[in-house]
Amino acid sequence: MKLILLGAPGAGKGTIAKMLTAIDGSVQISTGDILRGEVQAGSELGRQAEAYMKRGDLVPDALIMGMMEKRLQQPDCEKGILLDGFPRTIPQAEELKQLLARLGIALDMVVSIEVPRDVILDRLCTRRTCANSACQAIYNVKSNPPKQEGVCDKCGAAVIQRADETEEAISHRLQTYNDKTAPLIGFYEKEGLLKAVSGVSSETMVAAIQAELGL
Ligand code: AMP
Repeated sequence: MKLILLGAPGAGKGTIAKMLTAIDGSVQISTGDILRGEVQAGSELGRQAEAYMKRGDLVPDALIMGMMEKRLQQPDCEKGILLDGFPRTIPQAEELKQLLARLGIALDMVVSIEVPRDVILDRLCTRRTCANSACQAIYNVKSNPPKQEGVCDKCGAAVIQRADETEEAISHRLQTYNDKTAPLIGFYEKEGLLKAVSGVSSETMVAAIQAELGL
């Protein structure tokens, strides 16, 4: 499948992408995960992105587009792509449209994942993430804690609260989503690609996406 997953931070894009990956082997491409990996590796891109990310601001479009142009040409994308956290601005969406046309990739659908704001706030404050950039497994202190506190079940690395998941950065990220990313819903509606799924259960949303795709 070839999908864009749109949704506010904490809506469950990453969780839903991982569940969809298990269905047909499509690859999850999370710009947030790639950027956190670059920051951890201390690369030039990571160095340029870090301050924006810490504040909960978007990384400049040019950096993101350069990174994604390379990523979308890697051979594993032939299995299908699940774009998680990208595009995030209208200019990114416009450039992506041209890039996909150049690469001969046709999207099946853009899924707008809609979750009530109080659920999102609660999830973001209680979310914990594996610090190992090759893993980045997601936990929740209330609903899905690691078996051993502070240790990732999958790889044994430390499980931490992300630097951009302080209360201040979270409210800034949600505001940024409303201002810069929510307009993409109208953009993709006009393109005839939008399908909205709403609720709080990722399983139910995955089932709705599967039904829409006839899988
Ligand atoms: P995420 O893990 O998707 O919440 O992304 C974490 C942070 O990475 C965001 O708050 C931004 O600073 C940055 N980021 C991720 N994806 C993008 C994107 N498509 N455009 C700009 N910044 C991004």
